[in-house]
Amino acid sequence: MPSYDVMPDLQLYQPAELSDALNLLDRHRGEGWLLGGGQDTFGWLKDRAKHPRAMIDLNGIDELRGIRETDGGIEIGAVTTLVDIIGHPVLNRDYALLPRAAVRVASPQIRNVGTLGGNLVQDTRCWYYRRGLSCYRAGGNLCYADSPQGMNREHSLFGASRCVAVSPSDTATALVALEATMVAANPGGERLIPADRFFVGPDTHITRMTVLEDDEILTAIRIPSKWAGKRFYFEKVSDRRAWDFALVSIAAAMVVENDVISEARFVCGGVACKPHRLRNVEKAAIGMALSEESADALAPLAIEGAKPLNYNHFKLPLMQNLVRRAMRA
Ligand SMILES: Cc1cc2nc3c(=O)[nH]c(=O)nc-3n(C[C@H](O)[C@H](O)[C@H](O)COP(=O)(O)OP(=O)(O)OC[C@H]3O[C@@H](n4cnc5c(N)ncnc54)[C@H](O)[C@@H]3O)c2cc1C
Ligand code: SF4
Repeated sequence: MPSYDVMPDLQLYQPAELSDALNLLDRHRGEGWLLGGGQDTFGWLKDRAKHPRAMIDLNGIDELRGIRETDGGIEIGAVTTLVDIIGHPVLNRDYALLPRAAVRVASPQIRNVGTLGGNLVQDTRCWYYRRGLSCYRAGGNLCYADSPQGMNREHSLFGASRCVAVSPSDTATALVALEATMVAANPGGERLIPADRFFVGPDTHITRMTVLEDDEILTAIRIPSKWAGKRFYFEKVSDRRAWDFALVSIAAAMVVENDVISEARFVCGGVACKPHRLRNVEKAAIGMALSEESADALAPLAIEGAKPLNYNHFKLPLMQNLVRRAMRA
């Protein structure tokens, strides 16, 4: 053992086939780690807070990369980079909500290598947990953020259950609004998971943020054509314009016919452990026109059921204002 601090030893695997990646994941069950662009992963390793024994790099598997139009909509390989999503003509024409969210992720350098799969499966940024403290999410019996002295400015308003951390992914909100389907491969085949059910809160699983099992790989994300060319709104409020996570964000998709909303999805980021659907707002929006009056009527519904912590009350007016802005004509 060296007496100085170095990155722990790990084995790097670079499979070229999905079946090989699945076999490797199975062989290293519990000690394997999938690698996309590494932009969440390397932080964990550099902070010495996670210690995988085997790194399985997905970047050499061609079938996991690329954007393809299909009969039912569009399919995006999980290893497709955010920059490829941001520049894709069909996504920008028909499903612009996703590129608008992706371009607000982090910085150009991170978007160049960060993958859509990694962005969706990344872990929460709660600093107590990221520093390696033994909180509930790390298997301990305490939440440092939700304590009398806890610094919880960035934490949740909804869905807390022991843990009050929030989902950090900007693209997750857009994909829930677009009713995407996640495709997960496992040793038995594959399963299809609606985006709305892909992300989980601490009441479902305290140490996970998605339903993916240890032996599963997210291979693709499918967006249905139902939402092609509809009205979209994305906005993210953060302390800085770049290189920063959402304090609150909104991804909205609406079907507007004859100036009246006939269907709507409103999803907020930064307020719960998973993308938070504003179901009351969605329901009430049906039959409304895009206008200041509608915006004012819907805004209070956005925060129904919110349970702010000591330092995050400021997120309540932010949420309401983001709903207002999404509803402006
Ligand atoms: C300074 C900084 C700022 C950031 N700002 C933002 C931000 O504003 N918004 C935002 O959304 N994110 C942000 N991030 C987080 C992150 O870097 C990006 O989200 C990036 O897109 C992650 O993708 P990746 O491919 O690099 O992930 P990786 O680190 O490769 O993977 C992340 C996690 O997902 C798992 N994984 C990767 N691919 C798959 C797959 N196909 N199937 C199953 N599991 C998989 C990995 O095992 C790992 O646990 C930021 C990160 C940093 C360091
Ligand atoms: S909010 Fe969750 S991740 Fe953060 S300290 Fe509490 S239990 Fe841990």
